[in-house]
Amino acid sequence: MPAKRILILDIDGLRRDVFAQSLDDPAQPALQTLMGDASRRLVLDPLSTAPSITFCAQSSMFTGRHPADHGVIGNQFFDRFGRYENRGPKFYAFDVGDLLAVEDALRIYQDSDGLLGRIYPAGVTTLHEHVRARGKRSATVHHMVGRGADVWIKPDLIQIARAVKGGGLFGLEPSAFDSEMTDKAIALLRSGDRPDVLTLYFLGLDQHSHHNGPGEQLAYMRQHVGPPLARLVATLELLNLLEDTLVVVASDHGQYATPSDTRHSLRLSFPFDRELAHVFDSLGLDVHDYPGESPDCDAVVASNGALAYVYLRRPGHPWATPPRFETDVRRVAKAFWDAHLTGAHSDELRGTLSGILARDVEREGWAAPHQSIDSAGRLHVLEDAFATQEGHTVVQAARRLRASQSDLSPDLVLLSNYTEGFYFSPPLLGMHGGLHPDDSGATLAFGFAKVGDPAPAAAVLHAVEHAIMARSRAEDRAVSVADLTTGVLAALDA
Ligand SMILES: [Zn+2]
Repeated sequence: MPAKRILILDIDGLRRDVFAQSLDDPAQPALQTLMGDASRRLVLDPLSTAPSITFCAQSSMFTGRHPADHGVIGNQFFDRFGRYENRGPKFYAFDVGDLLAVEDALRIYQDSDGLLGRIYPAGVTTLHEHVRARGKRSATVHHMVGRGADVWIKPDLIQIARAVKGGGLFGLEPSAFDSEMTDKAIALLRSGDRPDVLTLYFLGLDQHSHHNGPGEQLAYMRQHVGPPLARLVATLELLNLLEDTLVVVASDHGQYATPSDTRHSLRLSFPFDRELAHVFDSLGLDVHDYPGESPDCDAVVASNGALAYVYLRRPGHPWATPPRFETDVRRVAKAFWDAHLTGAHSDELRGTLSGILARDVEREGWAAPHQSIDSAGRLHVLEDAFATQEGHTVVQAARRLRASQSDLSPDLVLLSNYTEGFYFSPPLLGMHGGLHPDDSGATLAFGFAKVGDPAPAAAVLHAVEHAIMARSRAEDRAVSVADLTTGVLAALDA
């Protein structure tokens, strides 16, 4: 292999325009060193998953599969069949969420598989497992997908616990957390370990951008990503590891700016404003809205930034029984439309939605596709429903939603009103999760820091590009975050 090793820098939430600016930014010399000569770079513009949210998109990046296949269809979702852990229906919230699902957050890094590694169904192979199957060595630092890695360096559990208690991020500034992460990677290399594929996961930029707005991303790259990258470059140079290293910079999604106030922040749970719960209350439905409450109720809501998933139970039946379309599903869709249009059921929901998707599992079974349901209760195929918005407020929306659809998909999907800045999350200045170009656009770029012989390096980049373009064409879609694995494997096999 002409690439002696591969270094993946996974920068959570990095917008593609900020990455493009950073590549030409004199204040970020380490990034330029790592990505090498501009004539030797391959910069792609991938789209995130739907929802454009971390655990869903990162799972696609590091398995190469779409969400329908790997099963992690959001940061939050509901396993109504109790399939994943054989212990009954279970609500998952990897991001902790309004319901303070602390246990899930802690279990992400548990054991050698981690929670995600236990959720991926048989037949889903992680990038690390692909690397090992080739007789090569994979190491990853702080990333949530670690199954199959020879070395999985995890965050300190004490830091995670502190985070969960304090409601902040690991009790540390996100930048300090990433700085420590980089030092762990540096220590691994200094110890003499030579992974063929090394992944560094930077979570701080996304956190900073949520709290300060996506307009602060470039400044954060300069101040807080640049210095650890400079230390990494110095170490690679010192250990003579820079030459013939293929460097990959990738992100899972972008972000768009939102107003940070309770009006625009739509929430479900006690003790916060219960805008969403009022709708269920007024229909006499018991919604899963107290921390620790069992999902033995009529409705479960999973909040994924710009999208919310609504799961509905046929009253008196187990969750695995299909809900009745008219009585259980269409009725709740209508109540949300009424709330949006007139403030009925929940005055704070007036003007907050841009659309609702529904599926008729009662008639079509668990593979029933989502359709758009309008305020009169009429159904429209997704392609038609999104056609007028394509390229403006959504990008490849129908296609990406279909790639996330499985039998575990929700009965309803609520789409927040982007234009007016509404979202299903605590109040924040930056958001993602939706189908909008600003949160759907992600980063994927390949470059050689330093090459011995330019011809083999060019051949590797050509192989990467060819593999990604061939797969995208075969699947009739734009380049996706799932193509990270496609590209890395093509480089290993070149
Ligand atoms: Zn993310």
